[in-house]
Amino acid sequence: MKIYIAVDMEGISGIYSSEYLLRDGAKYAVGQRLATEDTNAAVRGAFDGGADEVIVADMHGMSGNLLVESLDPRALLFAGTPRVPRFAFLDETVDGVFLIGYHAMAGTPYANLEHTMSSKSWHKFTVNGKAYGELGIDAEIAAESGVPVILASGDDKLCAEAEHWLPGIETACVKHGLARQAALGLSPERGHEVIYAAAKRAVEALKAGKHYTLPEVVSPATVDITYKMMEDADAAEGFNAVRVDGYTIESRFPRLSDKYGGLWSDRGIEQKIH
Ligand SMILES: [Zn+2]
Repeated sequence: MKIYIAVDMEGISGIYSSEYLLRDGAKYAVGQRLATEDTNAAVRGAFDGGADEVIVADMHGMSGNLLVESLDPRALLFAGTPRVPRFAFLDETVDGVFLIGYHAMAGTPYANLEHTMSSKSWHKFTVNGKAYGELGIDAEIAAESGVPVILASGDDKLCAEAEHWLPGIETACVKHGLARQAALGLSPERGHEVIYAAAKRAVEALKAGKHYTLPEVVSPATVDITYKMMEDADAAEGFNAVRVDGYTIESRFPRLSDKYGGLWSDRGIEQKIH
């Protein structure tokens, strides 16, 4: 059984403000360690639940956040840029996806470190008129390969979003969001316990034949991005994009994954390392 673990940073145990997330942030080095520890808890849970192969994808910012030397040696690490497609090595040979350290979609009230893709410039992201956060986008891309997201970890708002989008998903709630830059959190040590237990349960249930929710694949996908500042909309307007209003740009794709470089399986490249 093969598990693919996508790791973001905003929803990591112990992190509550942007200082932990930015490369030049005062607490970025601590953020890297905390993100690596949550990842290791998820890897341990996956293997103890019955996985025999785990790929970790370092997703936050420009990637390169996780401490390679401290990663559970049983996992393979996919890191670096460019990340095209968004989920390289995620194809139909994967049985389930974990989204670790994720955050609620842009505009979710009281959600810790909420945003969709760009905290700086994106106000709203919709697909065929429906607002999506990163959890919805990533669950959709995985679903195009027939792979369910079986676990999500982050704050209570992210967990509520996950349960709403993917009923039956396992969640590991490691903090209670209070404001964009404030949360009531578990200690990282307890966060790891919660993530480990949820990861183990998720894989055990998958092994026992549980059918996790696969979102309906949207095709074609009409994507609207509403920017916070009009100059970002000015810059984004161009080939394959239509100006809807001052702040909003619309593009059409055969599938949502095509906005992010398509699916790994489109490339026909076999994974040569296990
Ligand atoms: Zn992030």
